[in-house]
Amino acid sequence: MRYDPLPATKAEAVTSPSPSGGRVRGKAGRAAAGRAEELFRQQRDAVYRDTDHLLSRLLLLEWVVLVVVAALVASETRHGSGGWMDASVWTALILGGAITLVPVALARLRPGAPLTRYTIAVAQMLHSGLLVSLSGGRLETHFHLFCSLVILSFYRDWRVLVPATLVVGLDHFLRGALLPLSIYGASTSTPWRSLEHSAWVVIEDIFLGISCLRSTRQMRATANRTAALETSQHANQLIMDNSRDVICANDAEGRFVTVSAACEALWGYTRAELLGKSCVEMVHPDDRERSRLTNLDIMAGNPVTNFENRYIRKDGTVVNVLWSAYWSENDGTLFQVARDITQQKRAELALQKTNRQLESAHQANQLIMDNSQDVICSLDGQGVFLSVNAASRDLWGYEPEELIGRCYLVLVHPEDRPWSREAEEGTRARGKRSDFVNRCLRKDGSVVDVLWSASWSAADEILVCIAHDVTDQQRIEKALREAKEAADRANRAKSEFLSRMSHELRTPLNAILGFGQLLERQEPRSSQRPHLDHILTAGHHLLKLINEVLDISRIESDRMRLSLEPVDLSVALNEAVELIRPMAAEHSINLFTPAEADTADFVLADQQRLKQVLLNLLINGIKYTPAGGAVIVRCKSVGETLRVSVHDTGVGISPEMLARVFTPFDRLGAEGSGVEGTGLGLALSQRLVQAMRGRIGVESMVGQGSTFWVELSRTKSPLQACAAQGIAVMPTPGPEAMTRRTVLHIEDNLSNLALIEQLLQEAPGIQLLTAMEGRIGLDLARQHAPDLILLDLHLPDMPGSEVLAELRAGEATRQIPTIVLSADASSGALKRLMDAGARDYLTKPIDVSHFYRVLEETVSDKQECVGA
Ligand code: ADP
Repeated sequence: MRYDPLPATKAEAVTSPSPSGGRVRGKAGRAAAGRAEELFRQQRDAVYRDTDHLLSRLLLLEWVVLVVVAALVASETRHGSGGWMDASVWTALILGGAITLVPVALARLRPGAPLTRYTIAVAQMLHSGLLVSLSGGRLETHFHLFCSLVILSFYRDWRVLVPATLVVGLDHFLRGALLPLSIYGASTSTPWRSLEHSAWVVIEDIFLGISCLRSTRQMRATANRTAALETSQHANQLIMDNSRDVICANDAEGRFVTVSAACEALWGYTRAELLGKSCVEMVHPDDRERSRLTNLDIMAGNPVTNFENRYIRKDGTVVNVLWSAYWSENDGTLFQVARDITQQKRAELALQKTNRQLESAHQANQLIMDNSQDVICSLDGQGVFLSVNAASRDLWGYEPEELIGRCYLVLVHPEDRPWSREAEEGTRARGKRSDFVNRCLRKDGSVVDVLWSASWSAADEILVCIAHDVTDQQRIEKALREAKEAADRANRAKSEFLSRMSHELRTPLNAILGFGQLLERQEPRSSQRPHLDHILTAGHHLLKLINEVLDISRIESDRMRLSLEPVDLSVALNEAVELIRPMAAEHSINLFTPAEADTADFVLADQQRLKQVLLNLLINGIKYTPAGGAVIVRCKSVGETLRVSVHDTGVGISPEMLARVFTPFDRLGAEGSGVEGTGLGLALSQRLVQAMRGRIGVESMVGQGSTFWVELSRTKSPLQACAAQGIAVMPTPGPEAMTRRTVLHIEDNLSNLALIEQLLQEAPGIQLLTAMEGRIGLDLARQHAPDLILLDLHLPDMPGSEVLAELRAGEATRQIPTIVLSADASSGALKRLMDAGARDYLTKPIDVSHFYRVLEETVSDKQECVGA
């Protein structure tokens, strides 16, 4: 059914007008009342219009009847005396027509209008009066008057009776007075008779008026009920269209007869598809029997409110639905309201799962609390224990009950209380802390170190803490700290000792090797040569041992300072190869070196130390390869590194020994082979390579030979670096710089003085000045401005370092190159003196060839990088 929607909102529509027409409340009530009034008017106007049409037709009929009555009466009363067209017939025709046509026209033109109604009322009463008149005042025709009033009451408007009654009254009084025959059929009449007639009319009016009012009231009540019904239907429609719940009605076979909009969303079918469809068909097969039985129960008069089942939607998915339903016997309809609870079900399942997990977690927590070795406790904002687990018994010697309600500070050692409080406040500010250790007093008075982990919950104002006994750990850490300090001290003492020892050993060794080498150069007798060889070999062996022990000790105590810089691999390799070439020849070993191009690259290394490593590998290759064998040096790029490998065709190393090849002093059985060695070379090489951020390794097969390799990071050359920094390179002056030079040697040891004197005699054009004290040396330097100063560090009157400082400070001596000669081979001393301005640093015992080389390099100006 269509209806004109009310201008009311959904909420307003819910408040229905009173069907009884009583007072209605609110905006919705007013709207409903307005609608009721509208309906009432519509119905009343329809009654007016219908009655207008009805009475207009009645008036026409009455006009005809009047004419006929007039004709009959005329023919009766004037029988044979004249034509039937008597005056009364003319009166009926003309007067009747005049009375009839105006209201008939109004009924056509303005049906329902008050004027039409009142005109018809007047016309109707005039018809009655005319009939009475035409009948000659016959009393029976007066009943027509009463009939007319009854007919007028069809309007259900008592006001229509007013003009009608006035017309009747006027007619009776006027004609009663003037023409009594025409109205009462008597020649005379009194006003009382007219009054009496009028009174009867009024009495009828009263009853008809009451009837009209009652009828109007019923009409209004009907309008109110209709409006209420409309409102209710509108509300129902709104609910059907907007409810998120499914609202539907099914017939006895379970087919849908009414479905709300939500049904479409629930089952995925359109309303049109659902109407006539069986609801049971969509029920999940597993729930079908249960649903059928429940339906039967509902139809037996037992409504359900919480019935759950599942449906299969059009797209095949399953939905869970909660139903309320009742059976209306009168309509033969099953009314149902349902809700999609799929999400709710899922949420319930998830909640159940979460609850189970929480339960498990709770049990796990309880288990942890009960079995934890650590104290787990909670404190309130004032640090008062709220809960403590049983571990408090072991940690503090208190039962949990003894602690609950007490402040934790009672457990803390008095000295630690202030900062424990600070730590607690800090935890509250930061929310968390896990590195806080303090001392606590156990119940028996003993002290226990406790590590606290705490987190503050600002919402609950609770500090949750875990207290862990770290007494043993603290003790162990302390012992470890002390042990480390002792080890460091011992290591320092060892290094000190080694440094001293090396110095003490180097000084006499300087004389032994120096003079030995000098004698060798002075063409000794052939009988002396083997003795000299023994002296030099033993001396060198001792020197090598001292150096290697010292180096290893320095590396292990992290005191070796390497200067890592770009090193031309070809230069380092060539120098090493050239040094061992005589040895290879002596051992009849074929030495193969890589092409220049393969090695023309720079690596990040300490030049001297790299040479030392390469020499060691080459010497080993020669030493452990029988005569006629070969040592092959190769070079190749491996990613960002350069790999130098030294392969030999020697005895090889067994797999089990290979693991010990870098162990200090382990010669892997070579002690009995007659090959000389210290067992330190590879150990030192490994540490040096690692210190140069490189790698060293070995592959070997017994009887086939070994390959030792070293990998170092590739880098830019210094020239490239200079170019990159915008630095120019100055040319090198010629060798003529070596002519006629003065050398000042400051040294207190006579044998060393004599050695240097001997050595310098070998160099042409050098004049030697000597000083045995620092002060004298300084004076000589100022007076003679020598080309070179050789400076010992241990002088009787002042340390060599001070001599150097004064030389650097003096105007006249600042430019004189100074080479330090010292038995102190430590890298610290070397660096210190180089930083203080020494040109070079030679360690005793002096390697004579090296001494000459440095001497030559120093007195001739070298290529330098000068800032552009
Ligand atoms: P050493 O002074 O004894 O040569 P190293 O540390 O250089 O000490 O070498 C340790 C040991 O490794 C040597 O004693 C030797 O047994 C073995 N070894 C080193 N290089 C080679 C090689 N190229 N071939 C065979 N064995 C070698």
